[in-house]
Amino acid sequence: MKIKEIISAISDIFYPRLCIRCGKALNSGERYLCTSCIANIPRTNFHKNSHNLTEDTFSGNAHADRAFSWFYFTRNSSYNNLIYDLKYKGNADLARYLGKLYAAELFSDGITMDFDIIIPVPLHKKRLKSRGYNQSQMIAEGIKDITGGEIFTDILFRSENTESQTRKQRFERWENIKDAFSANFFKEYANKKIVLIDDVTTTGATIAACIKTLRACGYNNISVLTLAYADNR
Ligand SMILES: [Zn+2]
Repeated sequence: MKIKEIISAISDIFYPRLCIRCGKALNSGERYLCTSCIANIPRTNFHKNSHNLTEDTFSGNAHADRAFSWFYFTRNSSYNNLIYDLKYKGNADLARYLGKLYAAELFSDGITMDFDIIIPVPLHKKRLKSRGYNQSQMIAEGIKDITGGEIFTDILFRSENTESQTRKQRFERWENIKDAFSANFFKEYANKKIVLIDDVTTTGATIAACIKTLRACGYNNISVLTLAYADNR
């Protein structure tokens, strides 16, 4: 045992690390979630179907070549804590960890993850400053640990500081967000495989605005991966 592991084992006795879903003490090999909570993640299994709800969210000039989400974000689901923790409680490392777990699952289910360009949905710089990190970028870093490829933050930009989206209805959201992004075009990347990364697909308005902006700019192959799909039906 290395010294670092011994210290961590001792500190676990006095300050046990707890599963963020069920509160059970984690054993030394577990991080954030216990093995049983990982096994019971309310997976969408979208990648196992020829069509899926995330893909259906995007159409027309905002269509996605492929689009998957890992688990359902439903009212009162105790798994929603994962999203709250990585987004509002400053747990950037959790975002990275979940991105990595999700990509590893897709990979082991035989999904080709040959993306050239990974683009986290950008946050406006004011929000980035108050949060301290872009959760989508942290998720992207975890995904990249498995898929390879490169994270680009100089292709897509958030150009306006839009109002918070949460209180708005579907139509308003699109009106609010549709001009919020701008993009740089690099001709050599026009036909590269791009994947957009975000935490949750809700109405899809934000991601659709990103896809539209990128397609209008000249990028042709755009897919989407999000950790969660908000199922509010
Ligand atoms: Zn647990």
